[in-house]
Amino acid sequence: MPSWIESANADKCDFPIQNLPFGVFSKGGEAPRCCTAIGDQVLDLAALEGAGLVKAGGEAPVFNKPELNAFMALGTAAWSAVREQLTALLSKDGNPALKDDFTLCVVALVPMAEAEMHLPIAVADYTDFYSAKQHAFNVGVMFRGPENALPANYLHIPIGYNGRASSVVVSGTEFRRPLGQLKAPDADTPHFGPCQRLDFELEMGAIVGTPSTFGQPVTVAEADEMIFGYVLLNDWSARDIQAWEYVPLGPFQAKATATTISPWVVTRAALGAFRTDAPPREKPLLPYLDDPAPRHYRITLESSLQPDGAAPTKLSETNSSYLYYSAAQQLAHHSSSGCPMRTGDLLGSGTISGPDKSEWGSLLELSWGGNEPVPLATGGTRSFLEDGDTLTLRGWCQGDGYRIGFGACSGKVLPALKV
Ligand code: CA
Repeated sequence: MPSWIESANADKCDFPIQNLPFGVFSKGGEAPRCCTAIGDQVLDLAALEGAGLVKAGGEAPVFNKPELNAFMALGTAAWSAVREQLTALLSKDGNPALKDDFTLCVVALVPMAEAEMHLPIAVADYTDFYSAKQHAFNVGVMFRGPENALPANYLHIPIGYNGRASSVVVSGTEFRRPLGQLKAPDADTPHFGPCQRLDFELEMGAIVGTPSTFGQPVTVAEADEMIFGYVLLNDWSARDIQAWEYVPLGPFQAKATATTISPWVVTRAALGAFRTDAPPREKPLLPYLDDPAPRHYRITLESSLQPDGAAPTKLSETNSSYLYYSAAQQLAHHSSSGCPMRTGDLLGSGTISGPDKSEWGSLLELSWGGNEPVPLATGGTRSFLEDGDTLTLRGWCQGDGYRIGFGACSGKVLPALKV
């Protein structure tokens, strides 16, 4: 299904007409507003809505806003309607109303290179899970030994913790190396200073579009319908701060500095062709989590590290199909207590690692706790991130002659503040 925007038909383009992700952009200091991506262009949805070419179905405009929340809150019928309208407007043989309107094209189509991308959603709450079994196993072997590497609850419950929404940032945001309390294993007392073991975590983020009700658990199938789409997510992690603080309530400041997400929300509809079954259940799940439907996805995921002024080194390549629990299962579990989910809630999948070392999603694993430094293509090694390093995640689903891409999820580490 070709588009009249020729760049969208190119081999390996992240944003063909089958994708149509949603984001928020601005240009030249103008107010941020909602958009989609097509080929190498950003398409201004506020302009299309203003011209009457796109109708989300609500009473008020939803796209002239600095986040997608108003659109997401309209629900699945509105999401499908807008996707159909955009598909018609952008296909070669579809609705010519945009293609034939030169003035509107000049206003609404912006080369990606000229667009500044913003955080696509107002993040309501951020919860991070731990749903890739190989990652949980690797961490368990390092900290507890191979005998009881996997926590006893792992095959029964999607483990998670409540994170911080306030430090979720969009790809491209630089941040300072965190400061915190640190205690060397052989020291009697802790000290305060810059993190020495800063890491990334390769994850997917699921974005909740429609809310659930206070006191009302949702089923896995209902949870799936609530999910608007997915982003790439890097859960920056201060391993040394984490090691000292985590007993007994889990991660706190070690995970609070920053969480980076990619700017384009790839919709559940665009990913529909890439659904796959869950990995085999090693123990039967309780009925509220048991879900025979294929709600996992085959998404190729890649991490790379670029030192300041040098070329990037690919660190690993893995796949979201390794996750033991789907985002729908995580969401159903999250609501099982009666905890309401809100429009704009963000669920991190947990670090995604596969069975092979080349498929591991953190430096903690790749350098095996810092004991086996990872060689870089440009010389030198990394056990953990250094100042000036840029870490980039990429993801895509490979279809027959097209791919559904997520773009990049990048962040650069700046030196810590002086203590
Ligand atoms: Ca994480």
